[in-house]
Formats: sequence, structure tokens, C-alpha cells
Amino acid sequence: MSVRDRGAGPAVARPEDPALARGRAERRTLQVRCPADSRLVGTCLIDDPAEVVRRAQALREAQPQWEALGPDGRRRWFDLLRDWLCDHADELSALLQAETGKARRDAEIEVPVLLDHLRWIGGNAGDWLAPQRRRPHGATVVGKELHLLYRPHPLVGIISPWNFPLGLAFMDAIPALAAGCAVLIKPSEETPLTVAEVVRGWREDLGAPPILDRVVGDAGTGEALVDAVDFVQFTGSTKTGRLVARRAAEQLKPYGMELGGKDPMIVMRDADLARAAAGAAFGGLMNSGQTCVSVERIYVEDAVYDDFLHLLEQEVAAVRQGAGDVRQRFDLGAMATAAQLRHVEEQVRDAVSRGAVVRCGGTCLDGEGDFFAPTILSEVDHSMPLMQEETFGPVLPVMRVSGLEEAITLANDSHYGLSASVWTRDLERGRAIASRLDCGAVNVNDVLANLQAASLPHGGWKTSGIGARMGGAAGVQKYCRQQAVVVARLPLRREPHWYPTTPWKGALIGALLRALGGRGRRRLPACRGAAPARTRRGRSHEHDGVARRALRRT
Ligand code: NAD
Repeated sequence: MSVRDRGAGPAVARPEDPALARGRAERRTLQVRCPADSRLVGTCLIDDPAEVVRRAQALREAQPQWEALGPDGRRRWFDLLRDWLCDHADELSALLQAETGKARRDAEIEVPVLLDHLRWIGGNAGDWLAPQRRRPHGATVVGKELHLLYRPHPLVGIISPWNFPLGLAFMDAIPALAAGCAVLIKPSEETPLTVAEVVRGWREDLGAPPILDRVVGDAGTGEALVDAVDFVQFTGSTKTGRLVARRAAEQLKPYGMELGGKDPMIVMRDADLARAAAGAAFGGLMNSGQTCVSVERIYVEDAVYDDFLHLLEQEVAAVRQGAGDVRQRFDLGAMATAAQLRHVEEQVRDAVSRGAVVRCGGTCLDGEGDFFAPTILSEVDHSMPLMQEETFGPVLPVMRVSGLEEAITLANDSHYGLSASVWTRDLERGRAIASRLDCGAVNVNDVLANLQAASLPHGGWKTSGIGARMGGAAGVQKYCRQQAVVVARLPLRREPHWYPTTPWKGALIGALLRALGGRGRRRLPACRGAAPARTRRGRSHEHDGVARRALRRT
């Protein structure tokens, strides 16, 4: 398998237009380097807006046949993709590791996630997309058949970040493809290679329908993609999400947003502290802290604060950092970009200047590669950007709280609302605390687990997102437009409310609807005996009637 960009191109090879070939030769090239050792991993041609339009058009042409295959026909291609992914898992993980600088164990997670989603979604999409027959809700639709159909958005555009380049792009692509859409992916310009390889495998190795493609580039390519598709699914920072949402909204295009987070962890005095410390280390350091649902701030009840901190220090001291091969068993690798490394470094330096105490780590590693040492900070508070803004690095700030109320207040004191975790031996209390946290997911005595629960939605509240990915039926139906079909079944020449208008018909229909929708004696049109109902402002409806009659007289 080559990591050089071969361009996914149309599956049915057509002789290339010489002008187009010249254009390709003139296109800018992107170099992808490994953040762990700076070596060149691969190159890609950057797709300008015209190329995005061309690829989008080719996808649109192919989409109707894909939709016509139906869920069972599409599942057969999913099954072949599962085989292909299994056969190429090692090469794909190596490529992921090379373009991100991750530890090998972090890179090896992504292909199995795709297999899980292909199996679960491919196997269930038929049920989730089946036309539904709805019962008439009342008299206005008596004698009608009511159907609800799920019709795919023809072309879905997916814009994804660099932290899980393959997993995140395809966790959105799989349900969209299952729904019958064509899909155009724009992976991060920092990590475009593995997505390109899977798209190539789909089109060239499997010869699958040409309804999946990708484009490479930065903001300009992303903007062109928003303009070219019918539905935008974006994963990335809140800042970029706002730009993408604004652009889609101007064109009245639907979109979904999976954005940044600042996930709190609450440790109660009755928690299993050893498990909580191990969970904090994994939840905060996995993928070098570059996980949207990373543990980003920890609140510990006063009574167990010192014990928890001690255990956490032991956990973090034991993790191994590096990006070697699988035999070296490193736990966490490099930061994915030099800019992200600088951001983490700056946030930690700022917190220390405001009084935070470094318990371990706190700096970049000497030597080659963009590594930041696993870090624990104590004596932190909410005046520090470290406790307010996303870090997205291997940093665990731990704050002492007097009790549950303060922990909940601080956990909710954020413009983000992605996920949280609560640690207590009392599971009922854990669930009760979860219901008071303002975020899209809560793990009780666990970390990152909500991301493994494909039957639950993954979506942020507040500035962490709009809509949700996954969630079973809803995760696939969101890529469809709902179509209502109403079929008249009674053999009448005309419906009772059609023309010609007559006084008795209107009165009769009005009386019928009033009888069904009204309450008590008010069901009867001539009823005058009921006590006047009070309005919210204290006046009675009877008075409103008097006022209306007075108006009519004037
Ligand atoms: P980013 O916002 O910088 O970039 C994301 C993608 O948007 C990239 O592909 C980028 O090229 C593209 N882009 C940039 N400007 C654009 C524009 N104007 N129009 C269209 N596309 C544009 O994010 P990142 O730095 O790649 O990723 C890290 C961020 O992603 C973090 O904030 C993290 O929390 C978030 N994230 C969220 C989730 C989630 O599910 N909520 C998952 C993973 C990552």
C-alpha cells in the first residue's frame, strides 16, 4: 500500500481531459510529516474549489443508483468493506500513527471502531429507514392513509479534525452512506492520508459504487465543500464550527456540529478512589489528551482530595510516552501538531503564573518530536483559562471542592457541554448527579465510555455542538429528509370542506371539530352556561367576547 496520494478519482476510468490534467499538475501539494520525528509520510494534491465542485458533481450523478440499492444492497458493500478493513488493519494503523504521531495502541483503535459501526448500522439500517404507516391523529384525517418516508440528502459533506482522522470521518460517513447518501469527506489538512487510503480501497480495490470520495485542503477547500453539498456534518473546534454553521445557514443547508469540550470529572468522597485515579489518567491522557471527551478538569471532595491526588500521581508516573512500534507498548504519543503543542504549553505556563502547582510534567519533552509530558496541576481555579478553555492535551488539573453542590456549580460553569464523569459508589446518587449536569453525556464511574455506546447519541450541548452523531435510528435518519405522504382512501367525489362553500357545511365542520377538541360543556356551540374561564392576565374569556362584540359594533 502506498501512502502517496493517488487521487480517488471516478471508479469508472475515463480518459482525462488534457486541460484537466494540466490543472492537476499545477495544483498545490501538501506534505504530511510525522509529528513524532518530522519524517515525510506522504504528499497530497490540494483540491481547489473547482475540483471540489467536480467531485461533488460526480458523486451526485452516482447517488441515485446507490439509493436504489436499498439498505440490504448497501449492506453487502459494507460487509465487503469490513473484510477489506480487516485485511488492511495493520497498514492503516501504521499510516494513522505516522500522520498523527500517536502511540500505536491509540492508532489501533480506529479500524475496530469502523468495523463495529459498519456491522451495527449496516445490519439495522433497513429497519430504521423502513417507511412508517402512522395512525390518523383525529377527525381531520379520517379516511386517509398516512405514510412517513425517509429520503436521503443526495450529497453529505463531512469535515473532520486530526485527532482521530479515520474514526471521526467514518463514524459520520457510515450512517450517511447507510441512509443512501453520497458522501464527500474533507479530512484535516494535517492528517489526510488514511482517509484517502480507505476511499481508494473502496473505489479501486473493492470496485464499490463511486458514491464516496474525499477532497484535501484547508479552510478554502472546506468552504467549497459546504457550498457543494446538501448536508454538512462538521467535527472540529467551536471557533471553526461557528464559521461553518454561518456559511451553511446562509444557504439554508442543514448541518450537524460536533465541537470542543472542557469535560469535568467529579470525585465524591465515597468513590472507589483507585478506579477513579486510573480512570482520570486514561480519560485525560489517552491520545495525548486529544480526545473531544477527554477529562479536562477534576473536582475532588475535600475529604479525599489528598488521597486521590497521590493515587493519580502514581498512575501518571507509570505511563510510558513515545510513538514507537507495537512492541514498545507506549501509552501515549506526540501531539498531532506543533501549534497544538504550543497551545498546551502556553495554557500550562499561564496557569502556573497564576498560582497553579505542577505535580508532574508541565513541559515539552527535550529532543525530537512534538511531545508534551503528562501533567498534573493542583491549586487551580476558575480564573485560569486552563479551567475554562479547551486544553486538548495531556494535562490533568485537580481542584479541591467542599462538597457536591460546589462540584456541580463548577462543573456547569462552562460555555462547553460535551460530556462529564461522576465517581461515587452510590449508583443512584451517580444518576441523580448526572441529571443535574449541563452536558450531552455523563459517565458514572467510567470515562470515554459513552463514545463506545453506538445506540446512544453523542452530541454536545451549549457551544459543544448541535445535533448528535450515532444514537441508533436517529443517527441514520438525520441524513434523510422526512417526507409525509397522505393518501385519500374514501371514494368521495369531493371532500366535505372543498368548494362550493355553504354556510351549513362550515358550521357543521366547525361544530364537529369543536365537539372533539373542546372540553365539557364548551364542546357545544350554543353553550352559554359555562363559568367564564380565567385568562393569564386575570380577565375572563367572557370579557374578551364582550370586547370583541363591542369592536364589531363600532
Ligand atoms: P478545526 O476546527 O481547526 O478544523 C476542523 C476541520 O475544519 C479541518 O478539516 C479544517 O481544515 C476545517 N476547516 C477549517 N476552517 C474551515 C472553514 N472556514 N470552513 C470549512 N472548514 C474549515 O479543528 P481541529 O483543530 O482539526 O480539531 C480539534 C478540535 O476538534 C477540538 O476543538 C476538538 O474538541 C474538536 N473535536 C470535537 C469532537 C466532537 O465529537 N465533539 C470530536 C473530535 C474533535
